Formats: sequence, structure tokens, C-alpha cells
Amino acid sequence: LSSRTSAAEKEMGGAEQREKQYRAHQGFGDHHGGVTGAHTYFYTDEAKCDQHMETFLCCIDASSGSTEDGFSAIKLTALARPQFLVQFSEVLVKWRRFFLQLAAEQGQAGRAVLEIKLEVDKLQEALANLGILTKAESQEWFMSTSLGTGSTVDLLDWNSLFDSRTKISKPLLIPNRQTAQLEPLLSRFSEEEDLQMKRMLQRMDVLAKRAMEKGVRLMVDAEQSYFQPAISRLTVETQRCFNKNQAIIFNTYQCYLKEAYDNVTVDVELSRREGWHFGTKLVRGAYMEQERERAAQMGYEDPINPTYEKTNEMYHRCLDYVLEEIKHRRKASVMVASHNEDTVKFTMRRMMELGIHPSEKKVCFGQLLGMCDQITFPLGQAGFPVYKYVPYGPVNEVLPYLSRRAQENRGFMQRANRERDLLWKEVKRRLLTGNLFS
Ligand SMILES: Cc1cc2nc3c(=O)[nH]c(=O)nc-3n(C[C@H](O)[C@H](O)[C@H](O)COP(=O)(O)OP(=O)(O)OC[C@H]3O[C@@H](n4cnc5c(N)ncnc54)[C@H](O)[C@@H]3O)c2cc1C
Repeated sequence: LSSRTSAAEKEMGGAEQREKQYRAHQGFGDHHGGVTGAHTYFYTDEAKCDQHMETFLCCIDASSGSTEDGFSAIKLTALARPQFLVQFSEVLVKWRRFFLQLAAEQGQAGRAVLEIKLEVDKLQEALANLGILTKAESQEWFMSTSLGTGSTVDLLDWNSLFDSRTKISKPLLIPNRQTAQLEPLLSRFSEEEDLQMKRMLQRMDVLAKRAMEKGVRLMVDAEQSYFQPAISRLTVETQRCFNKNQAIIFNTYQCYLKEAYDNVTVDVELSRREGWHFGTKLVRGAYMEQERERAAQMGYEDPINPTYEKTNEMYHRCLDYVLEEIKHRRKASVMVASHNEDTVKFTMRRMMELGIHPSEKKVCFGQLLGMCDQITFPLGQAGFPVYKYVPYGPVNEVLPYLSRRAQENRGFMQRANRERDLLWKEVKRRLLTGNLFS
């Protein structure tokens, strides 16, 4: 737990002011709790993070040596102090919520996030009324960015304002949702924490450069929702640098999240505007039980879709959006990382309808090693690029992971057996009643 509570925060007693979802919680200090579908890392010290980076480098080398067009996957919680990811996530979420609050004040509540356009005049007036910046200060700030001449601001412009916050001479304040008081958007990082953040960015940079050199695509796994805004943002930053000519860095979107479609569409739009290649792995999400339990215990809204069907809908909606992007721009690539047969069939059907040929390799499939070979092999034989996620590591860590996979497989076989038994029962019933074809 202590690795998730910053020194600066302890000093300032700041945890109380933090949004509930982004607070450290005693019961979830071990963020492995309740997670069966993914490996999780524990922060010990910076040397351990360096060691993880070396392992990831070996994995990139191994992938490049064994296959063309290979992938390597990394987890950012292995490369950084998780507390930094939690804190940065909180900042990003607050900044987006402030945008939505201002949109509501301009009568634009409920619009799709990319359709919200704040009028600059009204926005500057609101900032002045809230006591955040005078009109002259915000005009100067906006002029220092590409927004200088525009009359409206959308979410991507808003995010670029965040990036150029150092151009204003005072710390950025925003209203606290509970107290309505102004508070600094960025909590103070200690010098050591600042260094930890820099080292994490350096590690990502080293990995991305090696991946590029070796022609291996690097996938950044998605993790718990209280880390994910930061993980995703840092991945997008890496994509901006490395995906100029092709998709080398792949970001992961979890479609069990209520906000998945917004996240995908906003990042695709950013890639369009800036001209880089959008690379993504789409998954349903591995941390559902833990997420639900944490939300219930800490009293914030469950970030996960209410039902399995809603998650399926969300997956297909996000996937469809990316497939359309491939059709129209050819500057996107997607890994359909799923064991779900309907999703695989849906992808193949939409590819055919949109004229995306498997040999273009813009769409590939991914399954975990030892799972769903009955889907993987026919896909490969039919000419679709298909990958197996290979877990590796010390035996004592990998064996429990594999045994969980085996249990999942057993569940899958039980379902298949049950279905077969039911079919036999029905055939017998029809034979006995003489209604075989009714
Ligand atoms: C190659 C590969 C890479 C992966 N990488 C990641 C990763 O980076 N991050 C990550 O989080 N996961 C990752 N996963 C795991 C993935 O998110 C799923 O947990 C797993 O694949 C099962 O989902 P499915 O689509 O295969 O099949 P299904 O069995 O059809 O879907 C099960 C999933 O549906 C969702 N679900 C189930 N019940 C409900 C409910 N009641 N309400 C709402 N949603 C529900 C959950 O996400 C559950 O895992 C990866 C999986 C693969 C194959």
C-alpha cells in the first residue's frame, strides 16, 4: 500500500481531497486481489523496474528472432511506481471532467464527447468568473497554443491546453466537485517522485526504440481503471513519436469499460489530426471482479458495463469504428484479442463487407497460449494473421497463472459437454415422439 501513497501527499494530507477512485485503499493495496486473467506486478524499487525492462528487452529480441511481424507485450506497472500512475490518472480524469462541466454550462451536456465544442469567448469568461484566470491571462495562454485563432475548443484542443499549462505563470486551479473550492490540478511531486517519473519515461523510450530497431510491435497492456488513464496517455505520447510511418506501438482498450467508445474515438481522432498510425489491441477486460468490488467498497460508480451483453455490444462498436477507420484511411491496425467465437466471426464478416483483405495485415487476432486452439488454427489456415500470447517468467509465478488458464479451459469444456448432452436429449425426445424434423 505504501507504494501507492506519495511522500508529497503524506506531507499535505492530500489523499482526502482525491477522487475516490484514485485513492489508495487498504484492501486493494495488493492490486492482484481478485484478478485471475492477467499477471500483475508489485513495486519494490527502481532496480526491480530496471530488471523488468531488461526482461522486456530480451522478449523483444526473442520475438524478432523467431518471427516476422512479431509482437511483444509490456505492462507499465512493471516499469513504474504504481502510485505515480494513480496520481497522474487522477489529474487526467479531473481535467476531462472539468471540460464536461464547462460543456454542461454551455448547454452541451449529453453530446458525444467529440461533438462538444466550447465557445472560446464563453470559456474565457467562465474561467474568469471562477477566479481561475483573468480574460487577458487565458487569451495569452490560448495564443501560445494552436488554438490562438479558433473560435471553439474541443476535447483534443482542451488536452493540448493541459500540455501547455507551463505557459501560464501560476499553478493551474480547477474547482473541486464536492466542495466547489478551487484546488491545484497537479499535486506536488517530491524530487524523488519526479525522478521516478522521468526514469519510467526513459524505460518506455528504450523499449520503443528497441522495438522499432528490431521490427517488433510493442503492445502496452491495459490494467486496472485507476492506472489506465495514465497508462493510455503515456502510450499515446509514445505513439505520437514512434508511429509516424507505421503502427509500432499498440495501445490496449478494455471494452468492459463504460467509457471505452469515447476513449477509442478520441484517440483515433487525435491520430488523424496529427497524421500518425493508430495501433490498438481490443480486449474485453480482465479485472472485472476486482473493479466492481473496489467501486462498491469505496463508494464510487462502477466503471464496468452493467452486463456481459453490454460489454459485447461495446466491443463490436469499438471494433467496427476501427475497421471503418482502416477502410477509409488505411492508417490503423487492430489486434482482436479475444477467445469469443462470435467476435471472431463478426470481425471476419465486417472485414469482408468493408473490403479489408487479411493479407493487408491491418487486422490480426490474438489468443492466449493453450486456449482456444480450435479458433486459432483455422484462422491461421485461412490466411489471417493470428498470434498466441506466450506467458513467461519464473516457474513459481507462471504455474499459478497457467493453472488458472487450465481451470478456464475446463469451464469451457464443461459448457461444450453440457451443450452436447442437451442436443442428444432433444434428438432422443424427437425420435421417441416421432417428430424428428419438427
Ligand atoms: C491476446 C490477449 C491479450 C490480452 N490482453 C489484455 C490486457 O492487456 N488487459 C486486459 O485487461 N485483458 C487482457 N486480456 C484478457 C481479456 O480482457 C479477457 O479477460 C479475456 O480474453 C476473456 O474475454 P474474451 O473476449 O476472450 O471472451 P468472453 O468469454 O466472451 O468474455 C469474457 C469477458 O467479458 C466481460 N464480462 C463478463 N461478464 C460480464 C458482466 N457481467 N458484465 C460486464 N462484462 C462482463 C469480462 O471482460 C470478461 O473477461 C487479453 C486477452 C487476450 C486473448
